[in-house]
Amino acid sequence: MSDSTVYKNVLKQLDNAAEVLNLDKQVKELLQEPMRTLTVSIPVKKDDGSIHVYKGFRCQHNDVLGPTKGGIRFHPQVCEDEVKALAAWMTFKCSLVGIPYGGAKGGVLVNPKELSRNELERLSRGFIQAISPIIGPDKDIPAPDVYTDAQVMSWFMDEFSKIKGVNTPGLVTGKPVVLGGSFGRHSATARGVMYTVREAAKAIDLNLNGATVAVQGYGNAGSFSAKFLSELGCKIVAANDSKGGVYCEDGIDAVKLAKHKKETSSVTDFDNCQELTNEELLTLDVDILVPAALENQITKDNADKIRARMIAEAANGPTTPEADEILFKKNIMIIPDILANAGGVTVSYFEWVQNLANYYWSKEEVDKKLEQIMVEAFEKVYNTHQELNVNMRVSAFIVAINRLTEAMEARGWVYHEDKC
Ligand code: NAD
Repeated sequence: MSDSTVYKNVLKQLDNAAEVLNLDKQVKELLQEPMRTLTVSIPVKKDDGSIHVYKGFRCQHNDVLGPTKGGIRFHPQVCEDEVKALAAWMTFKCSLVGIPYGGAKGGVLVNPKELSRNELERLSRGFIQAISPIIGPDKDIPAPDVYTDAQVMSWFMDEFSKIKGVNTPGLVTGKPVVLGGSFGRHSATARGVMYTVREAAKAIDLNLNGATVAVQGYGNAGSFSAKFLSELGCKIVAANDSKGGVYCEDGIDAVKLAKHKKETSSVTDFDNCQELTNEELLTLDVDILVPAALENQITKDNADKIRARMIAEAANGPTTPEADEILFKKNIMIIPDILANAGGVTVSYFEWVQNLANYYWSKEEVDKKLEQIMVEAFEKVYNTHQELNVNMRVSAFIVAINRLTEAMEARGWVYHEDKC
């Protein structure tokens, strides 16, 4: 769950990679703190006529590689520390997969489940008004995250276009296709998870046909991961969400479960399933665990009880640095978040390119390009992990930091006497 330690986790992950790399002090300093964080107050008229003021943030971590990019989360536990951490992970993620973006993230402290649709629209429009001075297609490009979706992106885009007086589809990604969204964006994060699981399974000699899977968090990233992993032959045996979890030894139909969640707003009470707690789900004896909810789920307190052979981090920051060490010793293959879930930002990049060019691609083209990027990124991370005998997270950070360092040197943000 989000708490004030999330940014410390990022710093520790950076430290771990910096130590192996003997990283230049100036580069490290530039990566340790975000460029800027804007805090905003958003007055929203409720349906009963009263005004409620919501607090929100937009953090831009580093833009050495290009305009910053990152989702916006509507969640009651959003805080500045969490937004900073999520923005930093975006910097490393975009660098790792080789797309020309820096990292950003935003969030509003709100429980959107308590708002009517009209209130949610006013909040979405109010948030974009508040952060409009620092965003734009060439500056910083928002996207969906926890409890925001294509509808919220449509309001963001519409509001920004009205403020600027120019139709600006490239302001956000994750829009519906009718407003310039990309085919394949909705499920891109999970498709990327599936490609990396497929490659990791080859690396550790895990047969995916019949491999068992538990999914924590059955939202966008989690439910589509379950669907795509089923298509590879895996057996989904457990899934949960904020209201509870379900288990079925014989396997769960991922698509039917998603439909059930849509209809009832939870995975609970699904046909032929037993209930299970969050802790039980995380420690199930399965081949693959897919955390797809929030940060700090696998910690030093439960890491030694994890029995999965592979963890594919669809969520950002689900594993703490202490837990990483324990899992590495247990020889569990972790596909770290900045690699596993990078399919989302990659197809967001494709969406933005299509918006700027005003020329649109087929779904087949999007999926093919995504697969190529994800497979290449996996290979780089896996080879570095093998060559340096470091865990997969350190290795992913090393690949990302090398590209960031090169860009900082080229721009003259860091100075090396020997290179003059
Ligand atoms: P979402 O809102 O679609 O789904 C989140 C799900 O998590 C919901 O089903 C919710 O009920 C569940 N959940 C919340 N608290 C939980 C808890 N304590 N235990 C179990 N389940 C819980 O959000 P999403 O977009 O799928 O994002 C999920 C994670 O994936 C986040 O970490 C997000 O940053 C990451 N991510 C998302 C994308 C994307 O494109 N959507 C891209 C990269 C990373």
